[in-house]
Amino acid sequence: MRLENVTWPQAEAYFKENDIAIVPIGSIECHGKHLPLGTDTLIPNRILDFIEEKTDTLIVPTMPYGNTDYLASFPGTISLGPEITYQVMYQILDGLYQNGIRKFVVLNGHGGNNSILDRLSVDFEKKGCILVQMNWWIMVWDLVKGYDGSEKWNGGHGGAEETAAIMAINKDLVDYDAIQDSPLKELSKDLPFSGMATVRFKGVDIPVRRLTKNVTDNGWVGPDHPKYATAEWGNEMLVKTADYIVEFIKVLKDI
Ligand SMILES: [Zn+2]
Repeated sequence: MRLENVTWPQAEAYFKENDIAIVPIGSIECHGKHLPLGTDTLIPNRILDFIEEKTDTLIVPTMPYGNTDYLASFPGTISLGPEITYQVMYQILDGLYQNGIRKFVVLNGHGGNNSILDRLSVDFEKKGCILVQMNWWIMVWDLVKGYDGSEKWNGGHGGAEETAAIMAINKDLVDYDAIQDSPLKELSKDLPFSGMATVRFKGVDIPVRRLTKNVTDNGWVGPDHPKYATAEWGNEMLVKTADYIVEFIKVLKDI
């Protein structure tokens, strides 16, 4: 049930019987030279299509922008920054709260939103609510095997994982000719970047958040090279994430 598709009496009837809603948020940002800027919004939206087929739970419109200041130097990236992202999401959640919603299932497409969602979780717990973060790209590390069949894997930013998900949505959205290696830079000779916001020293990854332009020229960061992406793998991620969320909501309803 999409909030934008129902009348106010239909919404009122839902709020009388239900206190749970799905609140999606993404981002508009660089994902390497080969992926669309809307990757973090397009993927949650496709997962929602699958969710909608299996549950009558209210879905509110996706917030397409998020907190992505560190990527903003790439053309086309638009960040609301932490304060505005917090304020916008607070207003959306509070609007639902005023209608009786007490359980928020936030389907999130972007890691930069997590600290804001943590803050909102505490703020709304004080108002008697529960906020659950469904970070799809992290969930699938446990829900599906890696592209090479491995049980233990993880994906980066704009790597094989997200590329596969976009291929499953629409293969034409991937610029295959633009898939290249994305060597990471160094903070110094002894401190090479090992991820988007970590340097490795003596085998340990230490968080050092820098503007992403200072970590990679291309904009994608592994470990999962996008050349390994397949639409089949991506579709498995989208379907299994949706199924998982539907099952989770059944349990959350009973709390
Ligand atoms: Zn992403």
